[in-house]
Amino acid sequence: MKSHTRYLWFETPSRRAYINITPKVEEILEESGIIEGLCLVNAMHITAAVYINDDEEGLLSDYDRWLEELAPHEPVSRYRHNDTGEDNGDAHLKRQIMGREVVVAVTDGKLDLGPWEQIFYGEFDGRRPKRVLVKIIGE
Ligand code: ZN
Repeated sequence: MKSHTRYLWFETPSRRAYINITPKVEEILEESGIIEGLCLVNAMHITAAVYINDDEEGLLSDYDRWLEELAPHEPVSRYRHNDTGEDNGDAHLKRQIMGREVVVAVTDGKLDLGPWEQIFYGEFDGRRPKRVLVKIIGE
């Protein structure tokens, strides 16, 4: 069995961002040479997410509004976590609901995604360097 590991780095200029990383994951799959297997993609920070859904402008803004309704960034004083001096209590909660990782099947050397499925990096406390792990195993 082969195994191929790479890290993607992000430093978004805004606090929150939703980035389609499917082309980057496809590149990594290509260089792995793996034809049949599984591809794990996970955020390595507890204030960022990796999830799969549609790359559609309206939906991306719906996510952002919905997450802000569930866990508004301000007032930062509403979060006990921020008593530590941080201001990212909301980002931890946003990450929890959007998820840490995805696993995608690799079939015939391609990501075996559904018709509109795309892999996204969701950033909830940006403006600093953060990593995403891509690990592909198979043959
Ligand atoms: Zn924190």
